[in-house]
Parts: sequence; C-alpha cells; structure tokens
Amino acid sequence: MSINRRDFLRAAVSAPALALAGAGEAEAMRAPKPVPPDAVGMLYDSTLCIGCKACVAACREANDLSPVMEPGQEGWNEKTWDSPLDLSAKTFNIIKTYQHGTMAAKDREQNGFAFMKRHCLHCADPSCVSACPVSAMRKDPKTGIVSYDANACIGCRYCVYSCPFGIPRFDYSSPTGKIGKCEFCRHLQADGKTPACCHVCPTGASLFGLVVDLKAEAQRRLALKAGDAYDFPRGNLSGGRSFGKGKGLGDGQRQDHREGGPDAGDAPKQRRLRERAHLDESALDGGHKPHQSPHPGRIAPYQPHLYGDKELGGTQVMYLSGVPFEKLELPTKVPEQGYAALSEGIQHTLYKGMIAPILFLGGLAALAFRNTRKHGDEEGER
Ligand code: SF4
Ligand code: SF4
Ligand code: SF4
Repeated sequence: MSINRRDFLRAAVSAPALALAGAGEAEAMRAPKPVPPDAVGMLYDSTLCIGCKACVAACREANDLSPVMEPGQEGWNEKTWDSPLDLSAKTFNIIKTYQHGTMAAKDREQNGFAFMKRHCLHCADPSCVSACPVSAMRKDPKTGIVSYDANACIGCRYCVYSCPFGIPRFDYSSPTGKIGKCEFCRHLQADGKTPACCHVCPTGASLFGLVVDLKAEAQRRLALKAGDAYDFPRGNLSGGRSFGKGKGLGDGQRQDHREGGPDAGDAPKQRRLRERAHLDESALDGGHKPHQSPHPGRIAPYQPHLYGDKELGGTQVMYLSGVPFEKLELPTKVPEQGYAALSEGIQHTLYKGMIAPILFLGGLAALAFRNTRKHGDEEGER
C-alpha cells in the first residue's frame, strides 16, 4: 500500500487525537492537585472596596517596584501620582472599575459600578507552574504560594501564555527580560507579617488568612441578609491562630526551600526585600500588627457564590461580589479542573512508552525512504 505525504501527516496528526478520544477526556486527565490543607490565601470582597488604591501603592513599596510613570514620560502629570492602568512587570496589583450607565449605585450591575482587584490567584493546580520548562514557577507544597525565580527563568513566556487569568507579565524594557507577578509577599510572610495589600486595606476588602478560614468567613457573609450589620475583619483573619515569626508559616516556608519558600531561587532578592521591609515598617503603617480592629459595615447584596472555590481546580485568592463575576473580568465558563491536569494528562498519554513519537518518526523515515527510491527510479529511467 502506498501512502503520500499528505495522507501520512493527516494520519500522524489524527491518530493521537483518536487515541485520546478513545481514552476519553476524563481518562486522559491526570489527578487534579488540591489546595494544600494549610494553604494561605486572600478573600477580596469587592463590595467593601472603596477604590482607594492604598493596596496598589503598598504592593509597589513592599516589592521595591519602581513607578511605571516617571517625569518626562508621556502622560506624566505633576499633579497626580503613579496610577498604573494595568498589570505589568512593574505592577503586581491593580484596582480596576466596572462601570455601567449612570453609575448611580455601587455594586449594582445596571447603572452601577464596582471595583475589582487583579493579581495572581495562586491557583491550586497552576498552569504557569505546569508550563514552565525550567521550574522557575513553583508552588510551595505547604502554603500553596506560587513563586517565581528570576535566576532560573529563561524568558520563554510560557507562563504568560498559559495563565487563564492573564496575570504574569514580561518585562520588555529589560535586555534580560523577566516576568513580574504577585508572590504573595512571601518575604513578609517569612517574618510572620501580613502581605502588604491586606495590611493597609482600610475596610478589610483585601483579607489575608488560611484558605480554610477565609472560606468559612465568606460563607458566613453569604448566609446573612443584605443590610445586616457586620464587623468585617481586617488584615490577617488567622493572625492569632497560625501565624507569627519563627513558627507556622515561616518555618514551613523555610523547610520548603527548594519548593518556592521565601529564600528559594533568587535568595538575594528575597533577602533584600525582607531587609527593606524592616527598614520601611513606618511606611507600612507602623509595622505589621497581627490584629487590626474590624471595620463595621453592612452586608451587601452578594452574588450567591464564592469565586475561586471551585473554578479551575480552586484558587487561593477568592472573590465575593455584588455584580456578576464576568463583569469583573473573571472567567466564569471554566471547568472545575485546572487546565494543567488535562494538558499534562494528554502529554503523558501521547508520550507514554514513547510509542507515539516512535511511530511518527518511523513513518517519516519510511516516507523519506520511499520518496528517495522513487526519485532514484525516475532518474534511472531518463
Ligand atoms: S493566576 Fe496565573 S500566574 Fe497565578 S498561579 Fe494561577 S496560573 Fe499561575
Ligand atoms: S500579596 Fe503582596 S505582591 Fe501580592 S498583590 Fe498583595 S502586596 Fe502585591
Ligand atoms: S486598599 Fe482595600 S479598599 Fe483600598 S483599593 Fe485596595 S482593596 Fe480597595
């Protein structure tokens, strides 16, 4: 039987797909990775956010990030301060606004507005970690923090393309371009401190804690009626229970040195950030106190769902909102398993025993041999 090049390539492409279809998507998928039991996280309650951007400024300060707009640059206005419009390699956290119609009421979809905080969600099963070919992106097995090691990074940007939330950003202005993204202020956490954005938030809209505590807090709010009075916790929800210098989180991260803890990878940068944080404690509101007084307020008419509880295998940064989550640029038509579970499963199925690559290369060799012989026969006939 003869086969031409087009038929061969068509068969080569469709055979693995048919094999996968035969196996079924569920069978091709590897087991999803859950949120670690002691994972740390953040609850962002959009209804509490007043758009003050104190968290954006604190993030820049805590991570030693230069302003994105400087004197002389287009758009520079001496009367305003640095106010980035989007995430970048120099902006790890940003507040955006949903706007509709007259914007007469906050947290209302029609003729309303709402705030949205965007940064890394520290996914339970992160695509960026799966896609990175040199393990520059790592997930700490205890805290679940997804860290980035600039020294290991080769600048391929696979993490940028793979993130379903569009978070990691590449620094095109640098000749040795690197990635920038929120690492959950792991240098502060290593010293028992609260991530800067949660520490400075005046209303508790950005709340830090153990994921398990944050989920319980979110469910308490969702169970109440709109208008009910409520003391919203601020800063570190789990502060009195599990955190503190030299114990709990700090120790766990130090033990996990190779897994993305505070000193993993680019240790000099992490040490420098930690030392700087001590020097700048006054700038961060007198240091990081474990307890902050609650913010008295009222329960808003929430969307009846905690975003991040299930989406894409779960995320350690979770959201409550008064407007539909898609209005806050959060993808809602997503599966309950992370994409990494499916893509890694497909790769492992295709490469299992190296049968598919060997068949493919064998087919190519046979095709080349046949064409060479045919060409020789034609030359001989002339
Ligand atoms: S949000 Fe994106 S960058 Fe952050 S852990 Fe998930 S996949 Fe990685
Ligand atoms: S946790 Fe730290 S790095 Fe992440 S957004 Fe908050 S301040 Fe920025
Ligand atoms: S500090 Fe808090 S209230 Fe202010 S913009 Fe950030 S999340 Fe919103």
